[in-house]
Amino acid sequence: MRLIIMGPPGAGKGTQAAFIAQRYEIPAVSTGDIFRANVSQGTPLGLEAQRYMDAGEYVPDEVTNSMVRNRIAEEDARGGFLLDGYPRTVAQVAELDGMLADAGLELDAAVVLTVDRDVIVERLLHRATIEGRADDTEEVIRRRQEVYEEQTAPLVDLYRGRGLLVEVDGLGEVDEVTQRVFAAIDGATGR
Ligand code: ADP
Repeated sequence: MRLIIMGPPGAGKGTQAAFIAQRYEIPAVSTGDIFRANVSQGTPLGLEAQRYMDAGEYVPDEVTNSMVRNRIAEEDARGGFLLDGYPRTVAQVAELDGMLADAGLELDAAVVLTVDRDVIVERLLHRATIEGRADDTEEVIRRRQEVYEEQTAPLVDLYRGRGLLVEVDGLGEVDEVTQRVFAAIDGATGR
């Protein structure tokens, strides 16, 4: 199974990605997590990414694309994968299309979690008090929402046009949302 999961910052992508990965026995590849790991290890990639992340901006496509290309070429992703947080721009979609075509593969579904804007900002501010992520200040949260609207929201229509979109209401208890996500993926992929 090859899946992507999208949704505005705070929609619960990372949480649901972990459950999806477990159920379909595929690795969850989170570009945000990979960037954060690089930042905390102080790698050159981390140093490059950090200034964008701290400002709520997207890391440049060239950096992100080659990182994903390398990651999905790894052994554990051979049988499938779930991309969490990639693609996030129209240019990244084209790049992913190329990666998949090179390997003779196709996406099975593009899951999008839909959530009300006010709920999201509240969740992120709450998370800031718990996890202390550097990009969870109110100003940066607002900027991340804007960037999502401008650059990533258009991908919803793009994948809908390809008949791959699986829209799931992300509001409610985590468990409820997970059950909705599983049912929607199973329905869309005929599992
Ligand atoms: P969220 O979805 O809550 O914004 P993520 O953990 O997915 O958080 O991403 C955190 C940050 O990492 C983003 O704001 C961005 O700077 C960077 N990032 C993650 N994925 C990508 C991507 N595909 N392209 C560009 N930047 C990315």
